[in-house]
Amino acid sequence: YDVQEKIDYVFKVVVIGDSAVGKTQILSRFAKNEFCFDSKSTIGVEFQTRTVTINAKVIKAQIWDTAGQERAVTSAYYRGALGAMLVYDITKRQSFDHVARWVEELRAHADSSIVIMLVGNKADLVDQRMVPTEDAVEFAEDQGLFFSETSALSGDNVESAFLKLLEEINRVV
Ligand code: GDP
Ligand code: MG
Repeated sequence: YDVQEKIDYVFKVVVIGDSAVGKTQILSRFAKNEFCFDSKSTIGVEFQTRTVTINAKVIKAQIWDTAGQERAVTSAYYRGALGAMLVYDITKRQSFDHVARWVEELRAHADSSIVIMLVGNKADLVDQRMVPTEDAVEFAEDQGLFFSETSALSGDNVESAFLKLLEEINRVV
């Protein structure tokens, strides 16, 4: 039988950003250590969970996915969210140019204390890079966001980006 761990906290985290930047894959990598090569836009999956221990607290991360509804994210999606992963694609300049709009969206709809991690995904596609790391670092510093470049494909930095976000949330709860 399952020995149910005692959960100290449930942290709601939302994943946002333009379509096709890799939000669903980052989430699957963190929650299940999977990358799905023939994924179509996920339908119906609202969130995935993973339980981690941070500073002796058992934290259940409940991580919400836009599930292909990027253009129709409602305020209900942001309700109660303590953290946000704001994802762009390092090979798509437009997805980075839109990051400012996503930050505005968060400022308008999410709690003002929400912890935001800016994530430049697809870092494995180095020869197609269109967004210099420095541009993102500068934007993140300006806006008070944490920042990481990840690859959901290789798994690089996915775990550390989520853990950093959860640690920061844990520091402020
Ligand atoms: P979403 O619309 O933001 O949820 O994006 P998806 O997670 O569905 O990914 C969009 C496409 O990018 C899919 O074809 C993925 O296989 C691909 N993809 C996602 N993450 C990565 C990554 O880190 N590296 C590479 N090379 N491709 C990725
Ligand atoms: Mg998706």
